[in-house]
Amino acid sequence: MISIKQLNKSYKVGEITTTIIKELDLNVDQGEFMAIVGPSGSGKSTLLNLIGCLDRPDQGQILIDGTDVTKLTNKESSRFRAEHLGFIFQDFNLIESFTVFENIEFPLSTILKQKNTRAKVESILDAIGMSEQIDKYPDQLSGGQKQRVAVARALVVEPQIILADEPTANLDSLSAQKVLELMKMMQKKFKTTFIFSTHDEKIMRVAERIVTLQDGAIVKDTKEMK
Ligand code: ADP
Ligand code: MG
Repeated sequence: MISIKQLNKSYKVGEITTTIIKELDLNVDQGEFMAIVGPSGSGKSTLLNLIGCLDRPDQGQILIDGTDVTKLTNKESSRFRAEHLGFIFQDFNLIESFTVFENIEFPLSTILKQKNTRAKVESILDAIGMSEQIDKYPDQLSGGQKQRVAVARALVVEPQIILADEPTANLDSLSAQKVLELMKMMQKKFKTTFIFSTHDEKIMRVAERIVTLQDGAIVKDTKEMK
């Protein structure tokens, strides 16, 4: 469902052009739970941003369910993001003045213009074991709980793909493990494709597929080895 062909991305700083993603090919099937690993600066965030239509490549193709997202206009790509993609960030990105309910409800009501969203939000909170926190504010939650809310917010619109850039980097190892297990449980329940980057060896073990980047190229893919 995701087919990446000959992807290239470079950044120009002053006179110097640095290639960040080099002739990268990658196919990801529906419902995969995949980790992107590699040293800092290897291009993990750049690749996730390209798949997430938050950045554009210099060359190459990214087909998501047949749509080449590299060819979309800015307006089309924001629509595509809203309809097909969910994002989870390292620093949670919750709205501090909103309750847990309001944070999760926000994409449903504001972006997808849905009404009567209460039951949907309640059922996802129940699924992540956080029903009792529904009226709390982010500053009343632990880091692990905040990231669970962010997972729920990404899932509530039922995207086909969830992209998460180091979602556990700001969590202690027990919370990190729990958030990852929650992501995996939700991926099974909703058949969502999950692609996340991580540095953490323990987290990698939860992944069903691990793609290793080095200097913007894939140097190892556990799927190819099977
Ligand atoms: P990772 O997430 O694996 O740490 P990144 O994708 O963030 O790697 O970055 C890869 C390289 O691209 C780094 O060397 C970084 O400095 C460079 N880079 C990332 N974004 C930009 C940008 N907007 N302008 C210039 N260089 C950038
Ligand atoms: Mg990064």
